[in-house]
Amino acid sequence: MMVSPGAFSSRCRSCGREITAEAPNCPHCGAANLEERCPHCNAVTTASQDKEMRWHCDLCGGPRLPRADPAFRRSKREVMHLKRAEGARRARAKSRAFIFGASMMGFGSTALLGLWGLIFSFSFPLVLTWALFAGAAALVIVWALGRSSNATKELKAAIDQAWMAAAGDVANRMKGAFSAQKLAQAMGIDEVQAEEMLALLEANDVIRSDVTEAGELAYQTKFRVGAVDTGAGEVDLEALAEAEAIAEEQRLKAQK
Ligand SMILES: [Zn+2]
Ligand SMILES: [Zn+2]
Repeated sequence: MMVSPGAFSSRCRSCGREITAEAPNCPHCGAANLEERCPHCNAVTTASQDKEMRWHCDLCGGPRLPRADPAFRRSKREVMHLKRAEGARRARAKSRAFIFGASMMGFGSTALLGLWGLIFSFSFPLVLTWALFAGAAALVIVWALGRSSNATKELKAAIDQAWMAAAGDVANRMKGAFSAQKLAQAMGIDEVQAEEMLALLEANDVIRSDVTEAGELAYQTKFRVGAVDTGAGEVDLEALAEAEAIAEEQRLKAQK
């Protein structure tokens, strides 16, 4: 196999021998290759399911996508959304540190005031000093709570966009209609998450669903309607990216 300069190799987690990053399985022992380069920490590692971010990097904890079936290689459009999500996650961690620090300051100054009052007596300058400290702490907490909740919203939106970009790409590369199970396999996720993705894609008008003769739901991308030749794939991706850019613009406008 040709190895391009940018290619990296990883080690099989079962037998420890070197395998190419693109290999879906270890050629030596057959174990599944689940490692992929993390866009945040740049390490070649696995990712695990995450309650809030769907999947996270096992090394740095940043939001990631599971390793997709190499036959459905992603266009990497999701990376910028994942990076935005990671930025929001870090901003939230900072806000939470502020909340913790301000709470400590509030509690500390109140405890000191109480202690001083027990031993000596309360005086106006003392209470005023305490009020300044406690008031400042309360202001910082309110401000940081707001920032933290905004970051949570931003994180959630960016994760959804990353997943929609990835799922949209996979849907585009499917030949004909596909099921939730097929999307799950291609994306390396379970069917519950695949159903969630499909609902999201349908709500955003990327795909449509039809009921098959067998009574099952089949999905296909909307942009492909009418396009039959396989060369249309890249054009579809562009149309999809454009539609997403418009949606993003509208979302930013709505936030202001
Ligand atoms: Zn192996
Ligand atoms: Zn990482």
